[in-house]
Amino acid sequence: MSKLQAVRGTQDMIGDAAARYDRVVDEFRAVSRLFGFRPVQVPVFEFTGVFARTLGETSDVVAKEMYSFQDRGGEGLTLRPEFTAGIARAFISAGWQHMAPLRLISHGPVFRYERPQKGRFRQFHQIDAEIIGSAEPAADVDLLAFAALLLDRLGIADGVALKLNTLGDAATRDAWRGALVAHFTANADALSADSRERLARNPLRILDSKAAEDRALIDAAPGIDAFLSSDAGAFFAAVQRGLEASGVAFVRDARLVRGLDYYRHTAFEFTTDRLGAQGTVLAGGRYDGLIGSMAGPDTPAVGWAGGIERLAMLLAPAAEVPIELSLVPADAAMETLGQRLLHLLRGHGIAADMITSGAHGKRYDRARKAGSARALMLQPHDGAIAAVRLRDLHVVEGKTTPVRDRVGRALRTVFRAQDGEIGNAFSWIIHHPD
Ligand code: ATP
Ligand code: MG
Repeated sequence: MSKLQAVRGTQDMIGDAAARYDRVVDEFRAVSRLFGFRPVQVPVFEFTGVFARTLGETSDVVAKEMYSFQDRGGEGLTLRPEFTAGIARAFISAGWQHMAPLRLISHGPVFRYERPQKGRFRQFHQIDAEIIGSAEPAADVDLLAFAALLLDRLGIADGVALKLNTLGDAATRDAWRGALVAHFTANADALSADSRERLARNPLRILDSKAAEDRALIDAAPGIDAFLSSDAGAFFAAVQRGLEASGVAFVRDARLVRGLDYYRHTAFEFTTDRLGAQGTVLAGGRYDGLIGSMAGPDTPAVGWAGGIERLAMLLAPAAEVPIELSLVPADAAMETLGQRLLHLLRGHGIAADMITSGAHGKRYDRARKAGSARALMLQPHDGAIAAVRLRDLHVVEGKTTPVRDRVGRALRTVFRAQDGEIGNAFSWIIHHPD
């Protein structure tokens, strides 16, 4: 390391970027409560096997993207590249199975060694939702309705489309895989090198290829419908009916597959064309076989993960949450009064600060530049009594205004409850509103 710099593919966020990030997480948590989800935390690192076995040894994530290392005790560990594997591990090893069915959310950093570009980082952040222990199509519908309402509340639903497919059950997949292998083998010469390799290892994943030369062959590949077993077909029909009833718009994409091995039945992606090649903002599906394959009890489950950065990039610029009231003391004695007032105001839920540095005459300006909505001048009045004058920083300069909003109500409550200086100051302000 020659000069001090951030690691490639990591980000520092401040101002608008940090505010957008928070907005995604805040809405995510708020909407999750409407659907009865509860938060969980799982470790940022796990034994490498937790991810390697779960995601599939041939998946891009396991083959190329994991941040794996040995700790000082010689344990092989990996920074989580996604949430589902860790949550499934906890479900089995932490005894969560006794609480099933579970509706869980989590969010935080995930790590993948990828080529950094717009919307693609090496440390990025996900919101994650899982329903574990529900085999009904209604669970898939609820999860998708959760995602759809979240996008709506973030104000980005219009530019984002839900693509939906089924990957069927084991019998369906085997039959479909056979047809795909036949199709791609017959045209192997035209495939990208990566996809020729996938043909041997994991032919379904050719459908997920982003190489331009694969496009035409993917479009011509057989869709899954001709191979759906009647059970798988009925399940998928129920999911689609439920989405229609819930007002969740979707488009069918009979060639949609997901990059990880564990998906069964429902698979989906919310995509946009506003982010260039990194157009998938949220994706997931049903993973009924996963927990059983990790040596847990057979447990049906369905989940999704959304990229916080990609969602945040779609948001309108965030208005900074302003300080509602800046106190501007006229002298040192007023500063002590101000400290008392700050304590009371914050206790009443008002975001408040005090401007204590710089020339007194410039303090209003400083409060305005800092984005405060209002200033409250604290100045001595009639000897011992503090006079309080209120000034709306965004109204005409030099004119004091009575406050009748939330800040005004809090001030009145605070003042009314106080004897002495503050109480006197309050009566002054009500009687001198302008
Ligand atoms: P992609 O096809 O873009 O590589 P993925 O299929 O690998 O995405 P998932 O494993 O489904 O992605 O992860 C869920 C979401 O996380 C994605 O839809 C995307 O929004 C986000 N995401 C995935 N990889 C990155 C990354 N490297 N940087 C930022 N966000 C990412
Ligand atoms: Mg990827």
